Amino acid sequence: MNADGRAEAWGSAISARSITKRFPGVLANDDVNLDVQLGEVHALLGENGAGKSTLSNILTGLYRPDAGELYIAGERVSLRSPLDAIARRVAMVHQQFRLIPVFTVAQNVLLGERGGVRLNRRKMEQRVRDLGEHYGLPVDPNAYIWQLSVGEQQRVEILKALHREAQTLILDEPTAVLTPQEADALFATMRQMAAEDRAVIFISHKLHEVLAVADNVTVLRGGRSVATRPTAGATAHDLASLMVGRDIVSTRFEPPQAEATEIALQIIDLTADNDRGQEALHGVSLDVGVGEIVVLVGVAGNGQREFVECITGLRKASAGNVRIASEIVRLGDARATISAGIAHIPEDRLGTGVSPSLSIAENLALTRYRSGRGPFIPRAANRARAVELMEMFDIRAPGPDTPARQLSGGNLQKVVLAREFSSNPKVIVAASPTRGLDVGAIETVHGHLRAAAAGGAGVLLVSEDLDEALALAHRIAVMHDGRIVGQMPVRDATREGLGLLMAGAKAAA
Ligand code: ADP
Ligand code: MG
Repeated sequence: MNADGRAEAWGSAISARSITKRFPGVLANDDVNLDVQLGEVHALLGENGAGKSTLSNILTGLYRPDAGELYIAGERVSLRSPLDAIARRVAMVHQQFRLIPVFTVAQNVLLGERGGVRLNRRKMEQRVRDLGEHYGLPVDPNAYIWQLSVGEQQRVEILKALHREAQTLILDEPTAVLTPQEADALFATMRQMAAEDRAVIFISHKLHEVLAVADNVTVLRGGRSVATRPTAGATAHDLASLMVGRDIVSTRFEPPQAEATEIALQIIDLTADNDRGQEALHGVSLDVGVGEIVVLVGVAGNGQREFVECITGLRKASAGNVRIASEIVRLGDARATISAGIAHIPEDRLGTGVSPSLSIAENLALTRYRSGRGPFIPRAANRARAVELMEMFDIRAPGPDTPARQLSGGNLQKVVLAREFSSNPKVIVAASPTRGLDVGAIETVHGHLRAAAAGGAGVLLVSEDLDEALALAHRIAVMHDGRIVGQMPVRDATREGLGLLMAGAKAAA
């Protein structure tokens, strides 16, 4: 800012000064400062809940800040709506796309444009083609949105912004729905926009992505902007520490070299339908050895959910078998799978993980009959055990009798994790167990998964996060379109190879 209190106009795309935004009970943005120049990719890095989306919604006129000032191209502005932001050439691609499925690509790009309906259809299609070609965002202008993959829909959102001549484009966690190759292509598009003197604000919580594509990075933590740095010279370790607010001890994990001999979990030719009655699993077979961590990776929606639900008895399979420690489990019977020794950390922890009306201690005891002591454990013993687990898993609550419904989301997750990890299972099936957790809690969960495997459990982990897969797995399997399209020991896995398989490329024979 210069002497008369205006943001530096020269080259400034957006400047946020002391932005504060409160939601009931939450200070989502607390005195946030952000300076983004034209011609740069500026990353906004922070853990879940750090306030990234809130800030970008303020920058694009969706939310009004409670305090603070906003400058666009050096001029003080007060945005009343996203249209105000568009008029000032600031656009955003949200995590949830806002496209109309029954309209074509060209129609969607045109949408909301004043007088747009009168624009010549052929011209519009050509415009979409030209923009797509120029920015490396190929998409058929005549395709309907419902026909497109998620990655293609994202391209349409970006084309929409470019068609409106956005000078500053905000992308909110755009890589969450992409394969690594698609992400790389998007990074090339972002670099090109920057080269044309536009500004790109890239929101992410993935360090290597930020280091790969951004010029500068602003770190948000607990609603505050804690640092802005050039990425040149910054390391993943520095950024992680800024994100979490303490030094991260990186524990390089050396997977045991011994190949598993005994099988903990064996899935044979599993076939099952999705909720719409279409076949979602086409004969899937997979083994998990005793003491082994197998990570199943894939783009969300390729059958992982149905697969986990079948193994854990929550979904009926139309064909196939599941064996735990060589015993066949009755499919479609969750109780049977629990007694056979499967612990399940579900994706939707709040939906199927806990009973809100029961206390923490009661929730923690829900699977204890596996321990052989029967379901009726003395209440005092239960409470003592709960106190111990609350300590071990850092569950923050007044006491073991607190009803689960009074816990925050993060603490509910910990209750499920504590219960499942402490049940001494033969097999752990975990679906995205670290999603939504902060970096510290992620380290803890990874530690528990490794310890469980080291203690002789077979671990099947479903993850969309290749970094997590590469850090934890002994073996990685890739699921695409309801099939396992490749598997390999982790030492043979590369991000690139996995990405190709995730995108449906055939594995080399
Ligand atoms: P991020 O995008 O970094 O994950 P958000 O900006 O979405 O973080 O959220 C920051 C905080 O504000 C979180 O605690 C979140 O629960 C809260 N929050 C976000 N949006 C709303 C809203 N519309 N109403 C109430 N609380 C919200
Ligand atoms: Mg967000």
